[in-house]
Amino acid sequence: MPELPEVETVARGIAPQITGAVISEAWIDWDKVLDGVPLDFFNSQVRDQTVRGVSRRGKYICIELDRDFLVVHLRMTGRLYVSGDLRGGDPWVHFSLGFLDGRWLRFSDSRKFGRITLTRDLTYLEKKLGPEPLTLTTEQIEKILSGSMRAVKPFLLDQKRIAGLGNIYVDESLHSAGIHPETPVDWISRPARKRLAEAIPGILQQAIDHEGASINWYRKADGGKGESQEHFRVYGRQEQPCLACGSPIRKIFVAQRGTHFCPKCQRRPMRPPARGRRA
Ligand SMILES: [Zn+2]
Repeated sequence: MPELPEVETVARGIAPQITGAVISEAWIDWDKVLDGVPLDFFNSQVRDQTVRGVSRRGKYICIELDRDFLVVHLRMTGRLYVSGDLRGGDPWVHFSLGFLDGRWLRFSDSRKFGRITLTRDLTYLEKKLGPEPLTLTTEQIEKILSGSMRAVKPFLLDQKRIAGLGNIYVDESLHSAGIHPETPVDWISRPARKRLAEAIPGILQQAIDHEGASINWYRKADGGKGESQEHFRVYGRQEQPCLACGSPIRKIFVAQRGTHFCPKCQRRPMRPPARGRRA
């Protein structure tokens, strides 16, 4: 599933292509893609509105119109790109947004889990999401990483704690910080907490620089692949040697999610750090 770096790359890719374009009408062949909103109503709302800009919040793409927003959730297999016609050559296009200049913004989604939500404002989204990791200071992230006995892996996947992280970049961040994925959050020592707070934005920014990870369906808006997968240190590398210590990377399941880690670099803590000496 695309995470923050992949969604950011798609948003940056389509922004210059559709900003300023005026909507004519949308086409669908699958009702649920509009989250239950009938196509006639959708078209009556968006017709003649101009695209003002494209941004990202968590794993959502927010297309700002004159009066409304279109919020796109790519989920598992969604791709968003601009084309000269409605759906030609791509059997998985289930939504296409037409512009007066004759181009179409296509939403291609083979598994059909993706959704496009028409909304007046982004309040509903804000209620679902924690802060953006790339705009927080290390101290602010350290503060978020406390007050819970939940294992750190599912804690970081919880979009209400911190927005945009998914399976790949949580595994990479925990390896970078040397923290076992099953460590209860309140058992993380102070130095390790600081390492993790620095690793999260660092890993995400690096993945944006590499334009995301094309390990399955994700493609950039121009159809090309990202290169982030070539820089993974643990994700998908089970049985291969850890790039830091040479031990074989292990894959386990934590909260039902496949989880990759190095058993030597990320030791499982047997007890919480001593009180007053949290190091
Ligand atoms: Zn290692």
